[in-house]
Amino acid sequence: MKIAGRITAEALVLASELIRPGISTKEIDTKIQRHIERCGAKPSFLGYGGFPASACISLNNEVIHGIPSKNRILTEGDIVKIDVGARYRGYNGDSARTYPVGKVSDEALRLISVTEASFYEAMKAARSGNRIGDLGFAVESFVISNGFSVVKDYVGHGVGADLHEEPEIPNFGRAGRGVRLYPGMTLAVEPMVNAGSYEVKKLRDGWTVVTKDGSLSAHYENSILITDGEPIILTDVNIS
Ligand code: MG
Ligand code: MG
Repeated sequence: MKIAGRITAEALVLASELIRPGISTKEIDTKIQRHIERCGAKPSFLGYGGFPASACISLNNEVIHGIPSKNRILTEGDIVKIDVGARYRGYNGDSARTYPVGKVSDEALRLISVTEASFYEAMKAARSGNRIGDLGFAVESFVISNGFSVVKDYVGHGVGADLHEEPEIPNFGRAGRGVRLYPGMTLAVEPMVNAGSYEVKKLRDGWTVVTKDGSLSAHYENSILITDGEPIILTDVNIS
């Protein structure tokens, strides 16, 4: 899983270096796929439930599951979410980031940084003996205190031999409730944060999830390992 995580993280770094006004989301996806395959891994998302690409690439008010297309061109001021998975020798990594395209609004930058920071709030709670509800409680209380909302209809998850495993990891919840964490658990923790209402809807393409009120949304995900002490981020370019 460390190798799968490293390949996943490298794919995201590669993608981030491509981001500029004028590039299509399809071109980014193609480069991501090439990197994963060159590492001897497989894109976890390609064909998953029929998904037609290696990465989910979602712009602005799109929350998750955006389909890369040569007609989707990044524009100055956009924020772009890239969600990638790589499977190596039967195990998966899953990670997502939100990037600004050129100069973006202060509100967009704050949304991106609050979303990233909310992941690290969950990390503080990701200790053996704690419960899944502690993670969600940590994420949501932090996000709300910053004036944003968390998506409720889509959640984090266990990750391993399957891309999506038990338990579900909501970005909300009650402290002290839910499945207990223990060393060796591998989890995809992924706050999805909206600038406006938490409500989302799916577009008619059957995949793309957008905010109902059209507000911006950001996403930050890593696959992590629960240990006896601090959790370890598996989707890290420096993992060894
Ligand atoms: Mg993901
Ligand atoms: Mg995930």
